[in-house]
Amino acid sequence: MIPGPIEISPSVGAAAAGAPPSHTSPGLIAAFGNALRGMRQVWRADASSQPFVIAGSGTLAMEVAAANLVGPGDRVLVVKTGYFSDRMVEILRRYGAEVAEVGAEVGDAPTVDQVRAALAAGGPWKALFATHVDTSTAVRIDPEPLARLAAEHGALSVFDGVCAVAGEPFEMEGWGADLCFTASQKAIGLPPGLALMVASDRALAARQARTASPPPLYLDWLSWLPIHRAYEEGKPSYFATPATSLVMALAAGLAEIFEEGVEARWQAHQRAADAMRAAWAALGLRLVPKDGLAANTLSALTLPSGLKPAEVVPRIAAQGVLVAGGLHPAIRDTYIRVGHMGVVIHRPIDLERTVRAVAAGVAGDAESAVAAFRRAL
Ligand code: PMP
Repeated sequence: MIPGPIEISPSVGAAAAGAPPSHTSPGLIAAFGNALRGMRQVWRADASSQPFVIAGSGTLAMEVAAANLVGPGDRVLVVKTGYFSDRMVEILRRYGAEVAEVGAEVGDAPTVDQVRAALAAGGPWKALFATHVDTSTAVRIDPEPLARLAAEHGALSVFDGVCAVAGEPFEMEGWGADLCFTASQKAIGLPPGLALMVASDRALAARQARTASPPPLYLDWLSWLPIHRAYEEGKPSYFATPATSLVMALAAGLAEIFEEGVEARWQAHQRAADAMRAAWAALGLRLVPKDGLAANTLSALTLPSGLKPAEVVPRIAAQGVLVAGGLHPAIRDTYIRVGHMGVVIHRPIDLERTVRAVAAGVAGDAESAVAAFRRAL
């Protein structure tokens, strides 16, 4: 129940555990093509967009975003909501970008008006970066107005969807977003190891227009583009060896999402999160995110004063449930994080067990928390 790596389904596990296919085998080519088409559906992206599947973690996806879109002297605005937006700032600076930041107190997010004002105060902007759900605070922003604001300023909009994709609504085409990336070990429900992203045709064009200072070869979309196109056309191809077992798992995981339906999966995350929040309220645990900003993929819970994650997390683990400690440096010692994404949202029995374990960890009343959970579900 940590916010990733999460549990995987039996069919994803089986797909990943087969004999590792060759990168040119018909089965792998078919799975890769299906996975790319499936990603467009999950991201709600149009046919002109380009999905990429590159071996690496979510941080690699962040590097790929920066390396392809940003060069020395480019102005970018980062909307800051926690630890992972700080990481994005650091990465962008290493690529030579001039980074402006618009932030808020821990647990809060800048308003759309504040972002609008920050854009109006500077520029010209190459891109706006925002974290859909910051896993360090569980703060969720609304990407839609930010994507529109970026477009109004002629800037690309880039979303870190690592703790959101497949768990929170996202409409790449409808909102005009230019890039959204995630990592396989989160709500999409695979083992760790894949950086997954979908780029708009505008984002690809921005890379193609950059002739000076090309990105490192492995990070360059243009290295991968012919390979990904070939896989969608059902043809073998090679640039660098893909994580073939994980690609098999990706195709299986996406197929499961489509069985349920993308929107149904978002709604199931919402229901599970609402029920968990009802339990936290019954236990008297305050959420780190301010009202209306709490993500559906995880809960960040402020501990009663005097309790520290270093004692509470092991007490919860003693009940057989693994949750995470704090991550945001400003509040690290005051809160814990409980993931609720992927297969577990359809297992109320495990969610209840988590509620009971957390209740034990904070010496709260498990029965009333479980009752609140059941009523809300
Ligand atoms: N962004 C967000 C929002 C994340 O939650 C994480 C990982 N927890 C990352 C980026 C980095 O991903 P990884 O740990 O897979 O490198």
